[in-house]
Amino acid sequence: MPEIKATVETEVEVSFEAFCEKCGAGICNNVSTRNSYRRGQPQIVITPCQLCLDNSYEEGQNSRDDEITELSDQIGELSEQLENYHGNT
Ligand SMILES: [Zn+2]
Repeated sequence: MPEIKATVETEVEVSFEAFCEKCGAGICNNVSTRNSYRRGQPQIVITPCQLCLDNSYEEGQNSRDDEITELSDQIGELSEQLENYHGNT
């Protein structure tokens, strides 16, 4: 029997769910899909989980506040040392 090779394109709709890997929250509302402009490849665009963003922001603020406290303490100690130095000269 003669044979011929043919390419068949099949479009399939795929439903899926999305979850934040870090906290486990469902983030289906943070996901959108599109096809790439030039290649037409399916793409998934995900906005980070708001809870984890808020937590990261808070962690950053706490870390910054700790750093500021530490630096203020060091400045206080150095000022004291400087006053003592001048007091002794
Ligand atoms: Zn999260």
